[in-house]
Amino acid sequence: MTSDTTQTEPVAADTENLGRLVRGARFVLWDFDGPICRLFAGHTAERVAADLVDWLEERGLRGLLTQEERESPDPHAVLRAVDRRHPDSDLVAELEERLTQEELRATASAMPTAYADPLIRTWTAVGVRLAVATNNAPRVVRTYLTGRSLLPCFTPHIYGRTQELRLLKPDPHTLVRALSAMGAAPSASLFIGDSPSDCEAARLAQVPFLGYARNERKEKSLRDAGADTVIGSFEPLLALLRTGGASGG
Ligand SMILES: [Mg+2]
Repeated sequence: MTSDTTQTEPVAADTENLGRLVRGARFVLWDFDGPICRLFAGHTAERVAADLVDWLEERGLRGLLTQEERESPDPHAVLRAVDRRHPDSDLVAELEERLTQEELRATASAMPTAYADPLIRTWTAVGVRLAVATNNAPRVVRTYLTGRSLLPCFTPHIYGRTQELRLLKPDPHTLVRALSAMGAAPSASLFIGDSPSDCEAARLAQVPFLGYARNERKEKSLRDAGADTVIGSFEPLLALLRTGGASGG
């Protein structure tokens, strides 16, 4: 059984790993959907994916997708499938814009991740530089962060989806852009993500990875992808920062 309220404290080994990861991090890169908020909390991603498929079908483009792609619960999978067949086309641009509009609508009902807001503010207060490296549209991230008065903690380092869909994670492009813009060494950085593609992008960019999993299914998928350190809550991380356990090194 998994739910947001049945998370366990990290095991001892993870606490130790956590201290080491956080002590070394002067730059923290965040995936957006998951670690910062649940973007589609009140507005399911499955429905958005189905709407994109319907939109293609209304235009007589049903044949562009395989049966499996038509049934995908992931809007990015639909977008990427079309992009593979018609790279850099107006069709892809239009589909990407539709997804961005859906994401913008979803920001109104997005659920903040527990302890993410104070963690972002605490890291900023102690001089750690923050960036977002996401597969969502940058304007969606800016809209959400503005609503929570967190935008100044990240500005200008928000790197997300462009119309070059092949650069979505697991490609390390957004991470590499963030590191290079901040003048950050990968080894002095940390990437917080919640999906196997985040873990893979971190590996490719040689950035230490901290997995955030809000349930056991997500935790298993991160462990299977090779994540060494996975936490189910940011509370111990925030406590570590507040007690100075993460300073020095
Ligand atoms: Mg995510």
